Amino acid sequence: MTPIAPGAAIGILGGGQLGRMTALAAARLGYRTHIYAPEPDAPAAQVAAAFTCAPYDDRTSLARFAEEVAVVTVEFENVPEQALRTLARFRPTRPSADVLAIAQDRLAEKRFLAETGIAVAPFRPVDGPRDLERAVAELGLPLLLKTRRFGYDGKGQRRLDRAEEAEAAWRDLKGAAAIAERVVDFVMELSVITARAPDGRIASYVPVENRHEGGILRTTLAPAPLAAERRAEAVAIAERIALALRLEGLLAVEMFLTRDGRILVNELAPRPHNSGHWTLDACATSQFEQLVRAVCGLPLGSPRRLFDARMDNLLGAEVEGWRAHLEDPHLRLHLYGKNEARPGRKMGHVTRLLPLTA
Ligand code: AMP
Repeated sequence: MTPIAPGAAIGILGGGQLGRMTALAAARLGYRTHIYAPEPDAPAAQVAAAFTCAPYDDRTSLARFAEEVAVVTVEFENVPEQALRTLARFRPTRPSADVLAIAQDRLAEKRFLAETGIAVAPFRPVDGPRDLERAVAELGLPLLLKTRRFGYDGKGQRRLDRAEEAEAAWRDLKGAAAIAERVVDFVMELSVITARAPDGRIASYVPVENRHEGGILRTTLAPAPLAAERRAEAVAIAERIALALRLEGLLAVEMFLTRDGRILVNELAPRPHNSGHWTLDACATSQFEQLVRAVCGLPLGSPRRLFDARMDNLLGAEVEGWRAHLEDPHLRLHLYGKNEARPGRKMGHVTRLLPLTA
């Protein structure tokens, strides 16, 4: 394919901080970005050349947006699949609507992974109370009941420790289609971010450890404290998935390392990922620049780590500590330009650079 050369406009669906940091990386390489998002105060729009504020099902706005960009990507996987299908009639979309459709439905995602031969926690589809009873009988307890769609940061999840809790858990999800999944006894959560270019070239970052609190990512440690063979295994899993998806763009693969030493895949996100923010300050090429390179068909950059790093999210009112972070010479502060610091909202992050280890 002919690369999309600097000077062109990259279209991004979604207006959050991931789009914002992608737009900044694109600008550095001489591209313009055009954000398409329904919310008027989109953090990404503050740093983009153009902004279409319209619903994702507005075909006229989508068509006009497509005319103004050379390629379309996403910063948010819950963009309706149909929006991407509409855009794909006019422009390449990277990732494709098919990849998005898999990543936005937990059942489709788990089935795809299982069919690809990737180990996942045992799961069952749950469309009603009967299915849940059967899942409890077949999988055993404890279980997690997760809505198939629109779950993020632990939202739309209920844990079941006793069979009697099934009815209330099902009611809590208000009839949404769900999956039941065995609770995994894990010793570490990790993730791998892989980039794949349209011509099939692939590049992956080192696996990182992710620590969550209340379902929200709190801290990422790069690299994950794992032996080299273990890191290679995690990278191989992520690359196998990227290949099976025929991914074009970025893929974040969230995994569990179980107490008995297996790696199970939990979730896929075909976009930049919070656990890759450390790459902005600690790698030869950041995940955001890598996405720009992948979607434009440029040579992929080196994912090489120049420092070890610890990334902490600034959630809600924590952002008010920005001044102290600026005073620490080993910290790099990133703020997302959001006005309202609601509890748990991702307002920014800080990356601490650490000496490079093996
Ligand atoms: P998810 O929305 O699937 O990424 O889940 C959010 C968080 O819930 C994960 O990062 C884990 O900490 C936890 N979690 C999700 N699925 C499981 C599972 N099957 N077993 C244990 N913990 C889980």
